[in-house]
Amino acid sequence: MHSFEELHTATNLTLPFPLQIMGDILVANYISPKDRSDWLGFIKTLKERHPEVLSAENPQSQHIRDFYLNENPRMLGGRAATIPGQAGSNNGGEGKGRRMKEKFKRVTRHKRKDDKINPMHLVSSLALDLVMSEPLKNFASEPERTMADWDMLRVLNRHPSGAIMLDFQYAFYTNKDKTKTFGASEVIGNPNATFTAQLPTASNVYSHLNKMKGAGKAAVRASSFHEMRCPGMDDEADTPEKCSALLAVLPPNQVIELKSRLLSNLLANTPGAKDGETFWDFVRRRGQRNPKTSTTTRTKGRIAENKKNRKKKSKKSKNKQSEDEKQKHQAKHGEETEKSSGTAKAEEKGTKSKWGFDPDDFVVIDVDFDANEIMDFMKENDIKVAGDELIERLLDSTLTVRVPRQLGHWVEVEVDGTTKKITCNCEDYNFDRFCPHCASFEVLQFGKEPSNAHQKAGEKWGEIRKKCIELLKKKEVTI
Ligand SMILES: [Zn+2]
Repeated sequence: MHSFEELHTATNLTLPFPLQIMGDILVANYISPKDRSDWLGFIKTLKERHPEVLSAENPQSQHIRDFYLNENPRMLGGRAATIPGQAGSNNGGEGKGRRMKEKFKRVTRHKRKDDKINPMHLVSSLALDLVMSEPLKNFASEPERTMADWDMLRVLNRHPSGAIMLDFQYAFYTNKDKTKTFGASEVIGNPNATFTAQLPTASNVYSHLNKMKGAGKAAVRASSFHEMRCPGMDDEADTPEKCSALLAVLPPNQVIELKSRLLSNLLANTPGAKDGETFWDFVRRRGQRNPKTSTTTRTKGRIAENKKNRKKKSKKSKNKQSEDEKQKHQAKHGEETEKSSGTAKAEEKGTKSKWGFDPDDFVVIDVDFDANEIMDFMKENDIKVAGDELIERLLDSTLTVRVPRQLGHWVEVEVDGTTKKITCNCEDYNFDRFCPHCASFEVLQFGKEPSNAHQKAGEKWGEIRKKCIELLKKKEVTI
C-alpha cells in the first residue's frame, strides 16, 4: 500500500485529477495549528499546485476559492483548523464520537448493567477528552496519557556508551523567536527556564548527513588519488537505515559539522511558504507527521483506527458491487494501475541515478552518474553553479533522505518555566494534546513523574530523571 504522498511523487500526472486534489487536501490534517501562516502557506501552495482547478477564472473555481480555500481554515476542516486535540471537521468529529464510546466503555467497565445508564458516566467520559477554546481552555480536563509517552526517557536512560538518540543529540534550545540559543546546562533540569527545545526529525538529520557526505566525497575526489581510497568515504548515506548506522559512528568533527548545518536549517525554517516553494517541499518542511516505523503508540492507534474504518467501508462497497461490475472495473483500471507502478519505479530510478539524457547529446560520465558528479563536472569545467537556484534545488532534492510517512523538519517543544506548562507541535500533540515530548520535558524540567499506572515495575523515576539530565548535559555537542 502506497501513501498518498508516495503516489503523488511517483505518479504525479497519472492519478485522476480530483483524487489528486483530494489527497493533497487531506494533508491539511498534518499542518500544525500552531502558526496560522503555515495554514496560509498550505492554501497558497495548494492553489499553485492545481492552478487549472483552483486558480482559474471560472465560476466553479471561484466557488471553491470562496467557500473552501478562503483564509478561514475551518472551512476545510482538518487539524489546522482548530486548537490541538480538537476535531476540525465532520470527519474528525465522527472520529471523536468513536473515541467517546471507547472512553464510556472504559469508565463503566466495572459497573453493573443498570448502573451504566447513570448520565454522570457519560459526562465523565466526555470530560476525559474535552478540549475547550479560550477562555475556558484550562477549565475542563487533562489530556489522556499512555504508558509509552515516557518511552523517550526510558530509551535515553538505557543508552549504550555511544551517541544518544538523534532527537536530543542534534537538538537546540532557543528562545521563542530563535534569536538566542541556550546550552543544555543552562536550561535542562532547570524548572525556571523558559525555552523552546528544537528537535530535528530523522528525515532532516539524515538528509543533511547525506548532503554532508556528498560534499565530502566531492572534495576528496578533487584532491588526490590516495585520499579517494581513505576509509569511510565510500559510505553512502542515502537510505534511513544506512544513515542511522553511519550516525552511530560519526567522528566528533563530523558531528559538529552536521550540527552546524542543522542550525542553519533551523534558522531558515520559518512558518509559512517561502517564495517558489512547491506544495510538497512546503509540506515536507512544515507538516507534522510521525514516521511509519518505530512510531509512537498514539500514532499507531490512529493508523490502526483509520485502517479499520477503511476496511469497513470497502467491505460495504464491495457488497454493493456485483461480481460483474468488479470485473468491469478491473478490466478498465487494472492496466492503469500496472502502468502507474511502472512509472513509479522509473521515476524513483530517475531521481537516484539516471537523468534520462540522451547520451549522444552529452558528455557521458557513467551510466550511474549522480547529481554530485554533475556538479563536479560543471565545476571542473568552470560552469558557474554556485548560486544557481534551480540547480541547487535539484541537487537538494536528490540528496534528501525520506523516512516513510514522516513530515516536518523540526519538532518544537515549548517549555514555560513560569506557568510550568509544556506544549508541542508534533502530530501526537496536534491530535491528542499530549505526546512523548511533553511527557519527557515534564519529567526533566519539573520532576513530574509518570503516575503509578504509567510506571513499569521497578522503575525509579527520580534516578531516571537524574541520569537523563546528566546525559543531555554531558553529551551536548557545542558548535
Ligand atoms: Zn510532541
